[in-house]
Amino acid sequence: MKRSLALFAVLLLILPLCSCAAKPAEQSFFAMNTVMSVRIWHDDGAAADAAAVQALVNTLERALSVTNPGSEIAQLNGTGSGTLSDDTLYLLEKTLALSARTGSALDPTLYPIVRLWGFTTDAFRVPSEEEIAAALKSIGTEHITQSGNTVTLADGTMLDFGAVAKGYAAQKSAEFLTRSGVEAAMLSFGGNIQTVGSKPDGTDWKIGIQDPFDAASNAAVLSLSGSGAVVTSGGYQRYFEENGETYCHIMDPKTGAPVQGDLASVTIVAPNGMLADGLSTALYVMGFDDACEFWRTSDDFEAILITNAGDIYITEGLDGRIDGAQYQVITR
Ligand code: AMP
Ligand code: MG
Repeated sequence: MKRSLALFAVLLLILPLCSCAAKPAEQSFFAMNTVMSVRIWHDDGAAADAAAVQALVNTLERALSVTNPGSEIAQLNGTGSGTLSDDTLYLLEKTLALSARTGSALDPTLYPIVRLWGFTTDAFRVPSEEEIAAALKSIGTEHITQSGNTVTLADGTMLDFGAVAKGYAAQKSAEFLTRSGVEAAMLSFGGNIQTVGSKPDGTDWKIGIQDPFDAASNAAVLSLSGSGAVVTSGGYQRYFEENGETYCHIMDPKTGAPVQGDLASVTIVAPNGMLADGLSTALYVMGFDDACEFWRTSDDFEAILITNAGDIYITEGLDGRIDGAQYQVITR
């Protein structure tokens, strides 16, 4: 609930930034554990399109939720084998590819670890080293076998698409809206922003990047033209404290423990939502130096890195697109 309120606060911060000529049709709903909003400009059937987006997200959530016992993923996790729908299989394949590309910084098999720390139930606890070592044995994408749509998991291995699901949902929604002829829309799915087309008044989309040290403020405002995804990951989004230590919801697959890195948040700007969501989580795990190096060897995204010291770094493709902040540019 704390997380939902924080995300809602972010949403409220973002909304006033988007003053556009025509008034958009707007719909907000709660799904995937967060507040989602859909705003559509310039379309006769905007309200119906927004409702269709909500239905699309609900369908994805029904397939992917780890906590809903009826979902495809919960059943797969429970029985160790299952036949996935084409959509879920596509997401699995894309996630596995991104996991390999990020050297397993993004790892969809981390669910037993996420659960051990209580992040699925809010019953937070610091597990013993023995518990972590035992759970780590079933972590790793090599424990997944696939034949057609049938997926089999090794004993103890479980999947979780928490790091990519909201971005994927936003991406699918944007694809749907584009197919429906919508010329301008902005989706805000928790920390995931997806723009469709260009604002009717021709100005750039303005996207507030939350200050990781102050939920009520933006650290910067990003200007974006055209369709794209902007996704932020950070330990501040969900965490618990015990004995003066802070433990966040993003896990380091190497240690089986919450990331204790040098980054406060990572924002990824990319053409599609699933890529942006997966990379925001992965670069947060990597930490500043490896994240910079990863960007240097990539050509499909830009990033804003805010360090624990409060310094803001942007990759050079975003130079000139950031307002309201002092920053340093990461070059190739
Ligand atoms: P995000 O908020 O997109 O950064 O994703 C974080 C969520 O993904 C967590 O709440 C977990 O459910 C899951 N998760 C945590 N650590 C990882 C990781 N290293 N790789 C993949 N999923 C993760
Ligand atoms: Mg993510």
